[in-house]
Amino acid sequence: MRSDLFINGEWVSSDSDERISVVNPATGSEFHSVPAASVIDIDRAVTAAREAHKAWAEIGGKRRARYLHDMASQIGARREELARLEVADNGKPLAEAFDDMDEAARCFTYYAEHARALENKQFEILDWPHKEFRCRIRYEPMGVVAGIIPWNYPFLMAVWKVAPALAAGCTIVLKPSEITPLTALELGAMAREVALPPGVLNIVTGTGQGAGAPLAGHLGIDKIAFTGSVETGRKIMSAASRDVKNIGLELGGKSALLVFDDCDFENAIEWILFGIFWNKGEICSATSRVLIHRAIYRRVVDRLVEEADKLVIGNGLEDGVQIGPLVSEQQYKKVSSAISKGKAEGAMLLTSEQLPAHLPGGYFLRPAIFEEVDFSSDLWREEIFGPVLCVAPFDTEEEAIQIANDSEYGLAASVMSRDKERCDRVAISLQAGTVWLNCSQPNFVEAPWGGVKRSGIGRELGRWGLEGYLEVKQVTDFDTRERWGWFLG
Ligand code: NAD
Repeated sequence: MRSDLFINGEWVSSDSDERISVVNPATGSEFHSVPAASVIDIDRAVTAAREAHKAWAEIGGKRRARYLHDMASQIGARREELARLEVADNGKPLAEAFDDMDEAARCFTYYAEHARALENKQFEILDWPHKEFRCRIRYEPMGVVAGIIPWNYPFLMAVWKVAPALAAGCTIVLKPSEITPLTALELGAMAREVALPPGVLNIVTGTGQGAGAPLAGHLGIDKIAFTGSVETGRKIMSAASRDVKNIGLELGGKSALLVFDDCDFENAIEWILFGIFWNKGEICSATSRVLIHRAIYRRVVDRLVEEADKLVIGNGLEDGVQIGPLVSEQQYKKVSSAISKGKAEGAMLLTSEQLPAHLPGGYFLRPAIFEEVDFSSDLWREEIFGPVLCVAPFDTEEEAIQIANDSEYGLAASVMSRDKERCDRVAISLQAGTVWLNCSQPNFVEAPWGGVKRSGIGRELGRWGLEGYLEVKQVTDFDTRERWGWFLG
């Protein structure tokens, strides 16, 4: 486990003596600490990234691709160790942590090939009708990126920022969440193993206020790639506005899942449970509002409650565990209080709250399913970011769409129906960056990811993710065999 900052290719001590405890959420005990980086540390990291930028942009896509492939191999070689570290830091079940590591390796491999393809796109000729002029398009790296990420997928979110940024020819200063800093720091160790040029990747641990804010506001940053809450997203926008930095915002959600009476029942049950209880419900796109056609409402709800009460809760390292502890004491208190408030306001909790007797410490909560939830309550409208599901019946397709869209968020949505025309019709009407048909949550490095409304700005992943780190330059030349003669005659 790393205990220092990674700046300019070296492990360095922080300028500040302040440290942040790293707590295992399955036990509630501190097992490590990392530096709380100061403004001076941030400045060192940004300076290193700035100095490295020109050379990194100029070595070309093919050479950058080799480094990215090597990073993917490093993740593959350290898969088990990284997954276990992720469980200790975040609490997620080991099988899910393995999946994150595999996705992260795939992400580096995928963007390696984009980096290679960029080499051949030095001057792309624009096909246009203006015969005496020729226009070519160049894709150039944006410069130095600040990558600021949350705690729910600590390693995967880090790689979603680092891989496309490096592929594009940008350098980066990455700030992981203060709650889960450990696996992101390991990217520094891998960068040394693959001899990534110093300064291309820098990793600073610290709080939002102490390290995140000075990083977002630093004049040496060209782009802020942020994933986190709407509240912090607003602060990022305002920090970026001072010198008009480019931003990408991946924010929260309160996604709806619509179940029609012609759905494949067993398939729907499986995806509904996965869509909210996977990763302990700490998923930005969790389908946390499930709308069910009245004709099958009771049957669906009874079955969901029966299955939710059977889910195995415990330490993510134990075999068969499906729900690990919430990530931190703070998150545990936040989700517990949302549940208590929901009950106090009259919503009906259908699931058991009884924890297994063998879980004395740790931030464990049983999955919760509520019905009779007031559509104006926080339980229905606000992101809870835990294993809490609200269900409600609907009568018509129009009503279901109206309830689904009645949200400030627009990250994702799901539809369960065997009628393909209905699926497409509803997909068009739903206000969301992603719509899943007869599934919930599958995510692919090749496909765009992001939200509408308060769920964010821009897209990660796929070619859209790469474009987020590229400037587009127009280079237009006049054919001097022609005489222009429009201005001087
Ligand atoms: P958060 O906004 O509290 O923190 C995110 C990051 O921002 C952390 O690294 C934090 O230290 C930093 N930060 C905090 N204040 C800052 C400031 N003033 N300036 C700069 N940086 C600052 O979010 P969180 O609690 O870590 O994560 C949960 C949120 O993330 C949820 O809302 C969830 O929906 C969202 N999320 C979204 C996606 C997506 O793809 N849309 C993915 C994962 C998580």
